[in-house]
Amino acid sequence: MRPLNKGNTPTDSAGNPISPTDYKSWRKALIDRIGAYCAYCNMPIKHALQVEHVVPKNPPTGYTAGEPLAWSNMLLACGPCNNAKGNAPVDAITYYLPEEHNTHLPFIIVPHAADPKHAIVMERSGLNANQFQKAQRTIALTELNTTDERANIVDLRSRERKSAAITINSTRNIYNLASAHNPNLAAEHVVQVASRTGFFSLWYEEFMNDPLVMEKLTNNAIIPGTATNCFDPTDGYMPIPRNPTNAADPI
Ligand SMILES: [Zn+2]
Repeated sequence: MRPLNKGNTPTDSAGNPISPTDYKSWRKALIDRIGAYCAYCNMPIKHALQVEHVVPKNPPTGYTAGEPLAWSNMLLACGPCNNAKGNAPVDAITYYLPEEHNTHLPFIIVPHAADPKHAIVMERSGLNANQFQKAQRTIALTELNTTDERANIVDLRSRERKSAAITINSTRNIYNLASAHNPNLAAEHVVQVASRTGFFSLWYEEFMNDPLVMEKLTNNAIIPGTATNCFDPTDGYMPIPRNPTNAADPI
């Protein structure tokens, strides 16, 4: 998953932080800052992109409600992720969150074992027991490991992941040919296709040994809002923990 940094509260023309009366009014600023992607599954969204409260404004009794209008509590989500997440109580101790953690580290997208039409999100190998449970809870929160095979299908996420993987394969083949002639142009093309296809982590995994593509994939020039502090430019843009002082779980 793509770690995000949407930056400080947007300001008006006088330089004062904007304070809208309707949380949906954050939609344009969110798209400008982090791109028109679901923050949870990273699917590109062409329409009906939902403004989502990270901490729900109406949690179950006994849990603290999230800020209903504050920029800090807003992200963008697709319908299936937002519906699955619902009013579940959310915090950065229980779950891996796009703005709190390097969410590239605990998850991996893999082909569905039984059905080649789909790809799903799983816990990455190498996590300790606590990290694995946290990753497992996060996947369950937005149902990132499910497929929708109902006649009235509404959740296309697993199919879109698989479609992105096929596009990546073909883009890789063309890249191998083109980069011999013009590496910079070829790398630019890869990231332009990635920006349309979404699913950042699939692109990252495919091109992680190519610093030229990695630089363009992570530097926000084409795909805005990636947390650049989650990738080390002095070490081939390898992913680095976002909470290094948290000995129990630096992710
Ligand atoms: Zn989503």
